[in-house]
This record gives sequence, C-alpha cells and structure tokens, in this order.
Amino acid sequence: MTRLRFLGTGTSQGVPIIACQCPVCKSLDPRDKRFRSSAFVEYEGLNILIDAGPDFRSQMLQADIRHLDAILLTHNHKDHTGGLDDVRSFNYIDRKAAEIYCEERVLKSLKNDYSYAFEEEKYPGAPEWHVHLIDERPFRVDSLGHSGELVWVHDKGYYYRQADGSLSNTGEIVSEASHDNPNVIPIRGLHGQMPVLGFRFGNIAYLTDMSHIEDSELEKLRGLKHLTLNTVSYHPHHSHFSLEEAVALAKRIGAEHTWLTHLSHTFPTHGEFVEKLKQYGGNIEPAYDGLTIED
Ligand SMILES: [Zn+2]
Ligand SMILES: [Zn+2]
Ligand SMILES: [Zn+2]
Repeated sequence: MTRLRFLGTGTSQGVPIIACQCPVCKSLDPRDKRFRSSAFVEYEGLNILIDAGPDFRSQMLQADIRHLDAILLTHNHKDHTGGLDDVRSFNYIDRKAAEIYCEERVLKSLKNDYSYAFEEEKYPGAPEWHVHLIDERPFRVDSLGHSGELVWVHDKGYYYRQADGSLSNTGEIVSEASHDNPNVIPIRGLHGQMPVLGFRFGNIAYLTDMSHIEDSELEKLRGLKHLTLNTVSYHPHHSHFSLEEAVALAKRIGAEHTWLTHLSHTFPTHGEFVEKLKQYGGNIEPAYDGLTIED
C-alpha cells in the first residue's frame, strides 16, 4: 500500500498570508489554513518526506511523524527547503544523519544557504545531513544507506561511530543515490526556467512547482490512481501552471484522481473551490492540509 498525506498545500507565502484581510485568509474553515507545500509518503515500509519548507517543524508535530527514512527535494526554493535545519530533532532521536535526496543544483544552493551544515568543524548541534545525489534516472530509497550511528559527545557535538567502534567527526556528507532495484521514478518539469523534479511512488505521483512538462515525461505518468499538480492562480503565471493549464494536463495524464496543491488566496475558499472544480468532471479537487490518499 502507498499512502500520501498532504502536510502543506499552500503557495510560497502559505494561506493565510501575513496581514491579508481577504475572505480566504480570514476563513475559519481549517481547510483554508495551508502550510507551505509538502507531502509525507508511506511506501514500501518507508517514511518519505517530499520537501521541507519553513513549516517543517509544525508539520512534523501536527502529523505526529516520529521517523523519516528520506527527504526528497523537488527544487531549491526556500518554501521547499527552508525547514531543513530542524531535522536536528530527528538526528537526535534516530541517532543518524537525515537522508536527503536532491539534484546537484539543489545541493549547490543548500551549500550556500546552509554553509554551516557542510563545515568540517561544525558547531555542536548543527544539522547532520547525508545528501544522495539524484537525476532523472529512477533511484532507490531504502533504510540502509546511512552513514553510521551518531554519537552525541557532551559540549562537542555529533561524532560518527565507525565499523571498528572508533569515533570520527564527519560522516559521509554526499554520495550518489543507488539506481539498483529503483523504487522512485523522478519526473522532470520546468518551473519557469528552473528544472525541477516530481516523484512517482507506485500509482501515486506528486508534481509541484512546474509550469511546463515535456510530452516524453508524461509516459512516466500512465496508469496513476492519484496525481498531484500545482496551480497558483486562474491567470497564466511565469513559473506555475494556471488552473486551466493544470486541468488540461490532468485530463491528458488521465489519473483516476487529480489533487491540486500550492494553492494561493486568489482561489476561493476550499468549499467554494470544490464546487467550482466539479465542472471538470468531478475527479479534480483541491487538496488540503491533512488530506490522506492511498492506493
Ligand atoms: Zn513552491
Ligand atoms: Zn488573502
Ligand atoms: Zn518553487
């Protein structure tokens, strides 16, 4: 069984937007409270998180997530990576580095944004990450590829226990993801000019922050039960699908059900939006935080 829980379905500023007084931002319906976009996937016995934006900590607490096997990053915008410092809690509980899967270009920006996490002599308590580099090839996520047990040494920080029992102050920080026996299929899209990845797990696919996808990539999306697509507004947007484009793409892909995410306050309240989307045949709906889908 594959299960996906939407942890956030809002655009980069979330909904409500700070200081906005519009009816959507003022709505009392909990489905109009949208954290930054992220999803939690339970697949082949693994706990996989897609994106760790600024709401990561609240999302982990609210969904009561106690363990992550992998964090997959779609691209390097802050609303998808801004919460990565908070994996520190999992470092401590799991006694291992957070296993992050991303492309080389995303790693480059992480090194910029979080330079302190890549220093050889880190300050005690800095996040411990093990980055697995991915590209367009299907890759394997499992619970085996970690870089050793973390040992907390008082006032000094984390050390990695080596096979011979000795402690070293650096674990493996970057390595290639395995392509043997792959279980995740990346889907290439463009977010304006920026290449991004969506991911397919079994018959569930999650695509966000795209404004274009090549026809050749659609082959990877055949036979889906659930598809997630992003849209931020009715109007054409430089880096996201408009509603019309998302609906047209959903129809081409033909999943049994399509869920819309990365929603902004330019759409009506959730209840009204559900009604409005019924004109497209009833199998395209807005997602909301906490919604769980499964196959
Ligand atoms: Zn985004
Ligand atoms: Zn608003
Ligand atoms: Zn983005």
